[in-house]
Amino acid sequence: MTRKVCAFVVLTFLALCDSGWSQASMSRMQELDQNIKMVYEQLSNDPKTMNQQLAILYFNKGVVAYEDLQSTSKAMAYVRKAISFDPQMHQAYEFLGDLQYLSQQMKQARASYLRAYQINRDPRLKQKMGQLKKEFTVEKDMKKYGSSRFIIRYANGDRDYEGYQIRQILDEAYRKVGRDFQFYPTNKITVLLYGKENYTQFKHGLQWSAGVYDGKIRLSEDATKSVQDLRALAYHEYTHALVQSLVGYAVPTWLHEGLAENQEAKIQKPDLSLLQQAKVQGQLIPVETLLRVSPGQLGSNAAIALYYQQSYSIIHYLTKKYGWSKVRKILLSMKSGKGFEQAMFDVLRLTPKTLEKKWVGSL
Ligand SMILES: [Zn+2]
Repeated sequence: MTRKVCAFVVLTFLALCDSGWSQASMSRMQELDQNIKMVYEQLSNDPKTMNQQLAILYFNKGVVAYEDLQSTSKAMAYVRKAISFDPQMHQAYEFLGDLQYLSQQMKQARASYLRAYQINRDPRLKQKMGQLKKEFTVEKDMKKYGSSRFIIRYANGDRDYEGYQIRQILDEAYRKVGRDFQFYPTNKITVLLYGKENYTQFKHGLQWSAGVYDGKIRLSEDATKSVQDLRALAYHEYTHALVQSLVGYAVPTWLHEGLAENQEAKIQKPDLSLLQQAKVQGQLIPVETLLRVSPGQLGSNAAIALYYQQSYSIIHYLTKKYGWSKVRKILLSMKSGKGFEQAMFDVLRLTPKTLEKKWVGSL
């Protein structure tokens, strides 16, 4: 049975967050507050420089509020404050636009991007406005469903899921996936369920995908034959959203997919036929390779499918043998800046080679 897999696309939304964050003893927010105090003390006789510095510091507070505190509303307030100190700060308008875009405030996002573009004619902003327009056109006809954790938009296609079913499925994923990671994002996550034609526009050219997470969860109604399929897909894509929220952007694809596939497996048993076949034929992807390549580099669809099955199987092995709490520890170590291999070694004393030996032995 061939099963459609799902994709994770990294889109960088945040415009800048300069300076190395050094102090382990001090939170990033405390460090910024201290810098703000210093700027007021030392630059009061140079208001122009003072305002520019304050704008940068408040902008960074916005980034930290979004990344560390998981608060879009606080992030927006800090970014607005940055703009009040420097009305020419195009990065702040762009970041505000990103936050509004992720929260489905499409008209406000357009106004923010436009303002940024008027100050700085960067083609990237044009691209963002183009994407926004495309989405806005599709989404204005979609139904809205309120939820305390998600912003849901749904175009009624042939299959009549009721809005409350989608909300129920997502709330369930929030609880059950969150339990393993001991993490519950506080930012509302946007979820869009598209009909066939419209999903094609947003799947980033990934032919084989049934769902995608690119800052928003986008699901293809067409790829789901039953409510159970939709549930499996929602668990998968929600895991991507959670992992990004928990760790940030530094998670390699195999790890993202391995984690997502394991959560999806709570709903639908994974197909591991290619993995079994590759094991028998001695054609498994070496773990060192798996850790470093992206599925796009593998070429054939069969190789990509094997990559997913191996990623699933390795995470399955780690969670069964060591528990989700250790996997979570590895992720938190990655959040603080370590690569996966270093983090795995620190937490489990495993190298890719020793992991490979133990994992293959368990198959
Ligand atoms: Zn995925």
